[in-house]
Amino acid sequence: MNALFLAIVLSFETGSTLGATWSYDDIPSWATNYPACAGDQQSPINIVSDDAVVDADLGNFKHALFDGPPQSMLVKNTGYTLQVDLTNGYIINDSSLLPGQFKAAQFHFHWAAPNAAGSEHLFNGNQYWGELHIVHYNTKYPDLGTAASEPDGLAVLGFFMADDYPQDNTAVERIIQPLVDDQVNYYKENATYSATFSMETFLPNNISVYYRYQGSLTNPPCYESVVWTVFSKPIRISRRQANIFETMVFENARGANGTVPINNNYRPVQPLNYRTVTRSSYCSGTGSFSMPTFHFTALCATVVGLITVR
Ligand SMILES: [Zn+2]
Repeated sequence: MNALFLAIVLSFETGSTLGATWSYDDIPSWATNYPACAGDQQSPINIVSDDAVVDADLGNFKHALFDGPPQSMLVKNTGYTLQVDLTNGYIINDSSLLPGQFKAAQFHFHWAAPNAAGSEHLFNGNQYWGELHIVHYNTKYPDLGTAASEPDGLAVLGFFMADDYPQDNTAVERIIQPLVDDQVNYYKENATYSATFSMETFLPNNISVYYRYQGSLTNPPCYESVVWTVFSKPIRISRRQANIFETMVFENARGANGTVPINNNYRPVQPLNYRTVTRSSYCSGTGSFSMPTFHFTALCATVVGLITVR
């Protein structure tokens, strides 16, 4: 492994700026130091529901998959996002859901500035307030850093986030408590949650409808190593909670002059090119039925509309 490659891998693992630096303020220049960013299978993308091809072989994600809490959870400010590293995260081993056995390694968030939208993926051209990414690596590789550059190395589950919930989302509140407590607001700060909790606690009630495509990391080094799963139903948080992300996570170290909030830490959508987006054939959280494509949208809209969102 040469030094440059090592630096890039370390950069991905730690979110630090070891090796070449990059910034959300200068996205067009990413490819200069990270050539994969100019590839033709990049993420995020605009997901157009009517263009997605129903794949009846795609299985139904169940909440039970996410039940097991990790051994420990380290929340940290990477200078680019708020990230939670998982020790011994849950494993998904179901070929109808993911092409291999994948282990959850970390999750992190993307958001915008106040009064703006900051999800990475778009849904039918619409940008949500933010987006949660749960990053998993293929267990045929020893760790996340090794898997990150392999074509079959990573699986990311993406959940849109909406800031329209009339009250605080109690599960998300637990995640951001270290920000409220002024523990991880500045670059390189971290904290361990006193009690771990499962991913299941903050997922939407309905996780049956999802979209699938082959893509990349959404920031340098932009490796095209990700099988993406983007769920149609958002996680809903309160405006107060959204404001904590927007104004209380800083890209500078504590004690530096002034504070610079991390805002707009999302990459704009990339061309789909020759790729196909597929979608699951399920509609409700409890249903296990599928139906012809031409009935899908109307019937799902009816069924999903009756399901309350946590
Ligand atoms: Zn991400």
